[in-house]
Amino acid sequence: MDAGELEFDNRMLDADFSSNLDDREDSLRPQRLQDYIGQDKAKENLKVYIDAAKMRGDSLDHVLLYGPPGLGKTTLSNIIAAEMGVNIRVTSGPAIEKPGDLLALLTNLESGDVLFIDEIHRIPRTAEEYLYPAMEDYVVDFVIGKGPSARSIRIDLPKFTLIGATTRAGQLTTPLRDRFGVLLKLELYTPEQLACIVQRSAGILGIEITEDGAYELASRSRGTPRIANRLLKRVRDFAQVQGSDTITSQIANYALSRLEIDALGLDNLDRRMLETIIKFYDGGPVGLETLAATVGEEAVTLEDVYEPYLMQIGFLSRTPRGRCVTRLAYEHLNLPYHQKPTPSEQMHLFDHLGGEE
Ligand code: ADP
Repeated sequence: MDAGELEFDNRMLDADFSSNLDDREDSLRPQRLQDYIGQDKAKENLKVYIDAAKMRGDSLDHVLLYGPPGLGKTTLSNIIAAEMGVNIRVTSGPAIEKPGDLLALLTNLESGDVLFIDEIHRIPRTAEEYLYPAMEDYVVDFVIGKGPSARSIRIDLPKFTLIGATTRAGQLTTPLRDRFGVLLKLELYTPEQLACIVQRSAGILGIEITEDGAYELASRSRGTPRIANRLLKRVRDFAQVQGSDTITSQIANYALSRLEIDALGLDNLDRRMLETIIKFYDGGPVGLETLAATVGEEAVTLEDVYEPYLMQIGFLSRTPRGRCVTRLAYEHLNLPYHQKPTPSEQMHLFDHLGGEE
């Protein structure tokens, strides 16, 4: 594999890169709640809130969706607007550079509209303050003019629904988080759910895939629909070049190993992260920033994109003192595992040595 391919491979998981592909992703997005696979808990609750709001003829309360990239937050926001039968306006935290950008959006909303703000944790603080009264009382107050002639103007907004999406709910300020009436956490998908998503996407893209082939792909997609869809397209390329019009588990297996994605869906960076903790830090604990500097990635990328899956499969644990690799990861990487004494065993050992003196 040459350097270009490797770079592409790593970017399969990159959050920013993924959002650039949104145009091409649109065709695969389910449009209604019943087509949205998985996330049963979030879906069931949401259905109740939507039905209740519709019965009252009211707008839906503000919704915060949080979870790792590629799990379907944007998709779900569009579905909410469709189910409510209202328009959706889309923006993102980094796109709002100054309060005026947000005011322009808010004052152009129509009654019941959904305003979707992706990466809401990246909204500038000065703009965020305008969101509080807008969310709570549907008004914005702003000052025009300067000095003695300055005047405060209040504009009434129509009732709207703000849907915020974030990979990190913990980074939201408390006043903002508290103003969301509905908080929904999206979970990583099971291989079975992802296999359904792969079959559905294959149907839309006109790709033939066997049940085994879909499962093989699904179980190596790190619990993430965006990755499953992307791998489906890459595996199709391999199948095509091999002169096969159906993706079987053998073809999926061959293509994924060419992409250096292992049986559990780990790529080069996952492996490098785990090996770094094992080889340089004796299995951890190691601080996130130190780890990021050693593997040459940004700490936020490791935290948002890589760690959730590594923790879900039990390869990594977060402790107050830093990240630790578990025995399972050593076994997966075929590296010898030495049991380290637990803190209480260490104390015991210490007492014991002390007693001998
Ligand atoms: P996020 O906003 O969380 O980063 P997206 O909503 O953009 O994720 O989803 C990424 C892709 O995954 C979309 O193209 C969509 O087709 C697919 N997807 C996400 N969730 C589901 C789901 N529950 N069922 C089917 N496809 C899904």
